[in-house]
Amino acid sequence: MPKPPTTALIVGSGPTGLTLAIDLARRDIGVRIIDKSPRFPRSSRAKGPNPRSLEVLEDLGVIEQVLAAGSAPLPMRKYRAGEVIADTDPYAAARPTPDAPYDRPWLIAQWRLEEILRTRLAEYGVRVELGSELTGLAQDDDSVTASLTGGREIAARYVVGCDGGHSAVRKLLGVPFEGSTDEEQAMVCGDVELAGPDRGLWHQWFDEDGGVMLCPIPGTRSGWWFQASPETDAAGRPVPPSLESFRRLFAKHTRLPGELLTRAALLSSYRVNERLADRYRVGRVFLAGDAAHVHSIAGGLGMNTGIQDAYNLGWKLARTATGQAAPGLLDTYEEERLPIAARTLDITAERLRATLEAIKEPGGGLDSAVTPQTYGLEGGYHWSSLAPAGSTARLRAGDRAPDAPCADAATGAPRRLFEAFAGPHFTLLGFGPGTAQALRAAASAHGGELRTYAVTGANGANGAAAGGASHSVLADDGGHARSAYGIGPDEDVLVLIRPDNHVGLIAPAGDHRAVAAYLKGGALERA
Ligand SMILES: Cc1cc2nc3c(=O)[nH]c(=O)nc-3n(C[C@H](O)[C@H](O)[C@H](O)COP(=O)(O)OP(=O)(O)OC[C@H]3O[C@@H](n4cnc5c(N)ncnc54)[C@H](O)[C@@H]3O)c2cc1C
Repeated sequence: MPKPPTTALIVGSGPTGLTLAIDLARRDIGVRIIDKSPRFPRSSRAKGPNPRSLEVLEDLGVIEQVLAAGSAPLPMRKYRAGEVIADTDPYAAARPTPDAPYDRPWLIAQWRLEEILRTRLAEYGVRVELGSELTGLAQDDDSVTASLTGGREIAARYVVGCDGGHSAVRKLLGVPFEGSTDEEQAMVCGDVELAGPDRGLWHQWFDEDGGVMLCPIPGTRSGWWFQASPETDAAGRPVPPSLESFRRLFAKHTRLPGELLTRAALLSSYRVNERLADRYRVGRVFLAGDAAHVHSIAGGLGMNTGIQDAYNLGWKLARTATGQAAPGLLDTYEEERLPIAARTLDITAERLRATLEAIKEPGGGLDSAVTPQTYGLEGGYHWSSLAPAGSTARLRAGDRAPDAPCADAATGAPRRLFEAFAGPHFTLLGFGPGTAQALRAAASAHGGELRTYAVTGANGANGAAAGGASHSVLADDGGHARSAYGIGPDEDVLVLIRPDNHVGLIAPAGDHRAVAAYLKGGALERA
């Protein structure tokens, strides 16, 4: 008997594939994740999750591990001709706010983040199948057959290509990956061992003819991210990276002995590529992460955009696979995420230009790559068919749903909105007593897929809890929730939050029919 198909096959176990696998596994969706690599990578590559990705990682239940394994971003020390010119900290003024608990990116090597995600995935009984390279794809109306090297095949109802910039999935689908490669902006990178410099700083030596950047890798005693403009040979061609060339570059720009660099691994040459997939979906096959978009590392958005793609796709794929939504919901993945990738290409190109300009001047450095736009907290999917008209003084449907510190009205224990949102469900917030009946009606109509909360004033005053409510009550003692959601003290409003913590619907207090229409109609219509 042929095996029943896996629900979802994920190709590639980088940060994108692992995020998606966890998001599906926690929804009890049968998932397999394969990688062509024979072993797990130890490459440090991305320097860490930005504030929005930290919010995603909190929802996936790994935030404590990530924070413990990494560190806050380090102040930057800039040098010219080997002399210290300036110390700067682009995050010096950043502070957590009630609506955004993560005020800066977190420094953690990509391999370490992947290790944490794999451990979480294993808790659901899913392990990455290494040494499994996808070489072919065939699909019909019901399933996809993935061919692997060695003649193996995996049948799945859906396949997601999270297989990086050279994506085999994208090529097999014939999806164009238009854009450009800038041969001028080359860089060499690697993980190096180095004794000497202060590990509390990200050191940046820039001279007129190039530079070297060294950032300590958290959790290691002497490991550093090494980045530099490459050496060129007599013909002006870049010299391939090696320990010797790294030592020469290090000595040239730091004026320190090159021998301080004792080991260099995972060497790579890097050119700025700006490319965007033409489509994110062909039938039952999807693209996510670097498979769908690549751009400059200025602003540190590559891995982050992939994590956030996966978070957008996970709940939609799960809902469709279980028949809770018709396949049309899957079209909203491209509808929402492709414009975000296009904007990310613009942001990173702009940050690269700003950084290249800044380093021409003494004291300029990588802080020019950082702006609030690189935090991932701004904007929303306002154009989406999942974002009907509706707004408050601060929010529109489609926006990222803000956090707020509240308290459980029953116990008095602190409870943030993000804790109420965490998990695979939709969340309905009812601000003000006028929402009580709608909360009750929604709770009884939608059961487990929807959690309902009355958000009350101090000590439950003016709450919707009266009358034996079936919903929980959150005391918004400080008024932070009303403030973050832009709802005045006397306004009664319903706010429906999607499973990926974006605002789905903003509706008048008594309008539980609008909630039902949203959850069962339009793009979320049942299969
Ligand atoms: C030097 C360097 C520095 C970077 N710095 C940053 C940074 O500071 N911030 C940032 O956000 N991003 C940074 N990036 C980018 C970041 O590393 C990528 O954006 C991120 O890894 C993308 O994640 P992904 O999961 O989409 O793809 P990947 O991490 O590339 O994972 C793809 C996986 O798919 C597997 N695979 C490929 N083909 C197949 C196949 N046919 N079958 C099965 N498996 C396959 C691969 O083995 C790999 O494990 C950097 C990248 C580099 C190279």
